[in-house]
Amino acid sequence: MAILKILKYPEPILKKISLPVKNITGETVRLIQDMVETMYAAPGVGLAAPQVGILQRIIVVDIDYENPGKNLIRLINPEIRHTDGELIWEEGCLSVMDFTAEVKRAARVEVAGLNEKEQEVIVEGEGLLAVALQHEIDHLDGKLFIDRISRLKRELYTRRLKKILRSGKPQTESPRLMI
Ligand code: ZN
Repeated sequence: MAILKILKYPEPILKKISLPVKNITGETVRLIQDMVETMYAAPGVGLAAPQVGILQRIIVVDIDYENPGKNLIRLINPEIRHTDGELIWEEGCLSVMDFTAEVKRAARVEVAGLNEKEQEVIVEGEGLLAVALQHEIDHLDGKLFIDRISRLKRELYTRRLKKILRSGKPQTESPRLMI
């Protein structure tokens, strides 16, 4: 297993649409293991393959940070089947440094995907789990949570980020839950 490098906005790969996995191979299984290790090491509660530069529809999520691995979700080609209600959650992202913002999403989701054995898996989630699933599936479509906030807020952030990047100062990671 290996810890992979997490790409950060404005890296252009993060804007690309990931392709469905056609054949689940040993390489797919290894990638998923590496993504899980990378997510825990970050630490984060979710990670999508494009965040580590792989444009394949794979996500891992584990919101139970007190019992890592117990409720770990790994999904290949995940699709949202049903949504219900609305919630607002303050989101952060491992690929968006130094910023969190409130995002409106569905309060409950049902997501279907495949596991490493090509069996269909259905995951139902609410609260943080619903947020994390929607946030990760957004990554597969080249969308970041900052694409779901107002243009003004996004522009203020990108201006601040440019300053941070120019200054070359090391980043302080946010203690909040990163998705
Ligand atoms: Zn993210």
